[in-house]
Amino acid sequence: MKELNEHIVCFLCAGYFIDATTITECLHTFCKSCIVKYLQTSKYCPMCNTKIHETQPLLNLKLDRVMQDIVYKLVPGLQHSEEKRIREFYQSRGLDRVTQPSGDDTVGGDPMGLPYSTFDHSRAHYFRYDEHVSLCLEKLSSSKDKSKAVLQQKYVRCSVRAQIRHLRRVLCHRLGLSLQHVQILFDNEPLPDHMTMKQLWLSRWFGKPAPLLLHYSIKDKRR
Ligand SMILES: [Zn+2]
Ligand SMILES: [Zn+2]
Repeated sequence: MKELNEHIVCFLCAGYFIDATTITECLHTFCKSCIVKYLQTSKYCPMCNTKIHETQPLLNLKLDRVMQDIVYKLVPGLQHSEEKRIREFYQSRGLDRVTQPSGDDTVGGDPMGLPYSTFDHSRAHYFRYDEHVSLCLEKLSSSKDKSKAVLQQKYVRCSVRAQIRHLRRVLCHRLGLSLQHVQILFDNEPLPDHMTMKQLWLSRWFGKPAPLLLHYSIKDKRR
């Protein structure tokens, strides 16, 4: 269970990502509250020690809505329980919910360097209504690959804003593998983590019928 969930679990609190927030410098993801708290005393990523920012690390955090949506899709019931928790929190204090202005995903955008007060969970599935792409993920077999892991469901629909790194997470989760073992390729060319589905489609598949064909390869687990 633990290994299966490592792609959608926060290193700092060991729970599923809540308000998934990604460091733009190294692309490691945490809960917003966990990483904001951690960065009160450090300027380095807790996972890889990359320096996040010279003076204001919060500036290089981004709410990662695609990642949060992935977590909600992979963990049935989580969104519901989180919404309930938030509702109860506000009710218990007699407060109105303050929601973040849409379109700005910067966590540290406040001039005081304070994070926005909350993430609007009611819109977490916003991406459902976003433009989507249909993908077909075929396994690239090589003689070196001893792994038996194959996707049961090779057709995937995802937001055009999803990046290769998001796709790798879903893939690793479904295959029960660690991130470093799975690579995504187009036409034998490994794709960079930061590439979005939109960029991919426009640059490699424009004018062609869906689904866009991608390959994945599994690197040897023994190192
Ligand atoms: Zn956390
Ligand atoms: Zn990192």
